[in-house]
Amino acid sequence: MTMAKEKVLVITAHPDDVDFSCSGTMIIWSRSKEIYYAVCTSGDKGNHIGKTKKEIIKMREDEQREAAKIAGVKEVIFLREPDGELENTKRLREKIVKLIREVKPDILFTFDPSNNKFDQIYKYHPDHRAVGMAVYDSIYPAVGNKNFFPHHIISEGLKPHEVKEIYFYGSDYPNFWVDITKIIDKKIKTIMCHKSQFGNRKDIGEFVKSRHSEMAKKGDKKMQYAECFRKLEMPK
Ligand SMILES: [Zn+2]
Repeated sequence: MTMAKEKVLVITAHPDDVDFSCSGTMIIWSRSKEIYYAVCTSGDKGNHIGKTKKEIIKMREDEQREAAKIAGVKEVIFLREPDGELENTKRLREKIVKLIREVKPDILFTFDPSNNKFDQIYKYHPDHRAVGMAVYDSIYPAVGNKNFFPHHIISEGLKPHEVKEIYFYGSDYPNFWVDITKIIDKKIKTIMCHKSQFGNRKDIGEFVKSRHSEMAKKGDKKMQYAECFRKLEMPK
């Protein structure tokens, strides 16, 4: 009897977040696990001259799908919430709880909701903070409890679900490092798929390498390039 593959779900705010944050780990883990991406917004507030909102959404989603293909991801799910307007509301949590009950991941990845230094402007995008918090609040107490959003159970055929591990990216307090040295060029390719964001930047590869070299230095192992996370194990 073959064991079912572990499932990993990455829940993020915008197309490209996942590729900056953890596509290296996904490239490696997709060899043995089933990977799913859920992107809450489709980046529709981007300023792309001559394109309608509908065209921007299609372009950003196509770019994310292409990047996911390189990383060996099974499926990309778009929640199509408005870009720049995410809030940790009951409505967003319901969508996230439903998504988790549908995908049934063993492992979740998202932004670290515990970051509170506010020392770097890009790191604290309100959508990133809202997603991190909404995912955290969905995991406990809602997702495993049939009394939260009971219509999922009663009329939509879903079941309460328990996640085993959560990894937070962009964390101020990493405790888990993944060696991405061998696949760093492939990771850079996933980022380069987002042409609408970085089309003219020739230095993106060097930027990514220097960022992951810095992350590696903070670990205790001799890695050249690493992605780092704060890992949280759920009580059994
Ligand atoms: Zn983002």
